Amino acid sequence: MTAFIRKGTIPHALLFTGIEGVGKKTAARMFAMACNCQGEGREQPHLNSGQTGLPDNHKISEPCGICRSCRKILSNSHPDVIHIRPSGYSIRISQIRDLCGILSLKPYEAKVRVVIISDAQAMNVAAGNALLKMLEEPPDRTILILTAAEKTDLISTVSSRCQNIKFNPVSRGKIAQILSEKKGVNPVDADIFAGMSNGSLSGAYNISSSKLLRKRDWLIGELESLSINDTGRCLAFAERLSKDKDDFLDSIEAIDIWYRDLAVFRHSSDKVIFIDLSDKMRISCKKYSEQSIISKFEEIQTARKAIRANGNLRLTAESLVLKLVQI
Ligand SMILES: [Zn+2]
Repeated sequence: MTAFIRKGTIPHALLFTGIEGVGKKTAARMFAMACNCQGEGREQPHLNSGQTGLPDNHKISEPCGICRSCRKILSNSHPDVIHIRPSGYSIRISQIRDLCGILSLKPYEAKVRVVIISDAQAMNVAAGNALLKMLEEPPDRTILILTAAEKTDLISTVSSRCQNIKFNPVSRGKIAQILSEKKGVNPVDADIFAGMSNGSLSGAYNISSSKLLRKRDWLIGELESLSINDTGRCLAFAERLSKDKDDFLDSIEAIDIWYRDLAVFRHSSDKVIFIDLSDKMRISCKKYSEQSIISKFEEIQTARKAIRANGNLRLTAESLVLKLVQI
């Protein structure tokens, strides 16, 4: 992005791709700020507007974060920074038509108007086609930024007209550092949450509570102490697991990570996610063969699919627990 700004080759439409929580929307907003900042200094006046959506003689500067324009964008109250999000599950054609109406007028006050279409894969075909027209004839002084997980999530006629910028998952170390500094999470827990988040900062924010770790301890403690000879206890555990769908899915994630850690622990004990449970892992990893752990992953995946497909929670939990204990 900075390279685009430096080179002055900002296209009319950008597509930011990457998993949820890697800063795509934040970057889009920073970009809108950079294009419109009224703060002084650090100007880079060598943009070649001929190849961009920027007006002639436009200068772009690093955003100061404090000028009127920056503050308006930060508080989501800038009339020329337009954010389109899915309404319900989809972005509808009426939303894109309304946008076309707004873009047919000149910007109110911005040097460069920025339209951010979040979760652009939620556009249905009609909405995508309406947007396509806009991409073919870009409105004056306007840059469109679409966000999606993958380029292939969008219809190809739309994605091929956007410059794709891929966002990488955030590193475990970086997420742990942010959780410690901004949320006051202790370093060990921050490292665990960071490992569980798969590189998504917002995901890490959502899961970072001590309650989750207490629940994890209970889950793993129960699971490791169950025996196939005590079916009654297995079924009672399954009943507690299956009370709530989302809760059940969260429990499954924790169990999945536990077995993943057991598999990893044998070869590189420093790469585990539940780093605070390494003493337990040392004991448990001797109990299961690699084949047994692979079979457990398969059972977990089967259960996950059944839950997502609205299968019977209780039956799914019973089947999962009995199999995990058996194999
Ligand atoms: Zn500014």
